[in-house]
Amino acid sequence: MMKIDVVTIFPGILEGPFKESMIKRAIDKGFVEINLVDLRDYTHDQHRQVDDYPYGGGYGMVLKPEPLFEAIEDLKNHSDSHHSRVILLTPQGKRFDQQDARRLSTDAHLIMICGRYEGVDERVRIELVDEEVSIGDFVLTGGELGAAVVVDAIVRLLPGFLAEEASADESFTGSLLEYPHYTRPAIYRGMAVPPVLLSGNHGEISRWRRKQSLKRTQERRPDLLKKANLSKMDQDYLEEL
Ligand code: SAM
Repeated sequence: MMKIDVVTIFPGILEGPFKESMIKRAIDKGFVEINLVDLRDYTHDQHRQVDDYPYGGGYGMVLKPEPLFEAIEDLKNHSDSHHSRVILLTPQGKRFDQQDARRLSTDAHLIMICGRYEGVDERVRIELVDEEVSIGDFVLTGGELGAAVVVDAIVRLLPGFLAEEASADESFTGSLLEYPHYTRPAIYRGMAVPPVLLSGNHGEISRWRRKQSLKRTQERRPDLLKKANLSKMDQDYLEEL
């Protein structure tokens, strides 16, 4: 079973996302154990202080090194796996994508550090962190929502959790965006479902979906087509478009 420790000074923020729907199911079914680790439990002073003023002056506070070092060391010491990967959520990290989610879903133990204020003391990053991950080119107030995003993307890919087919055609899996979906009713407010989807002809449906995927990707993310594995038929269709 995969274990994910999320180190935060606001564990309450993350209680909701892991108590609902698919992530809850993954926890209940024993695919993953997720622990919210309160960084303040690794302080030794009366005020349970986790932050301090930045050397050199300037705006904001910085998460102190001592509680983070003690927390990460403790979590590693109590880990059943011989390798624990420490991930720092930071807007300065590598932009997280589906390949990262797939790669990390094979790890046994992840420790995620959620920054706050101006971030964490640089010595934490240098000494403890294996990977720095950003969820996009914008700045959040803290790493908790980023950790929720990363955990969600990883957990749904845990081997055996979702049916293989569920992620096979998914956006980014084969470098294309997924085709559009329809459900009942067949006609809603005058808008009809494409007849091919009602035909029961699986070959035709699968060709239609492939074309829709190609069309969408070309319209919205032409950059993805450069690394996609395209057949001669795909290329002919794109030229037609
Ligand atoms: N001073 C930092 C900088 O300019 O790079 C930004 C700090 S931000 C206000 C506080 C914390 O939110 C960060 O330490 C990080 O953990 C988290 N965070 C903010 N934006 C993020 C992003 N795009 N991806 C992942 N984590 C982010």
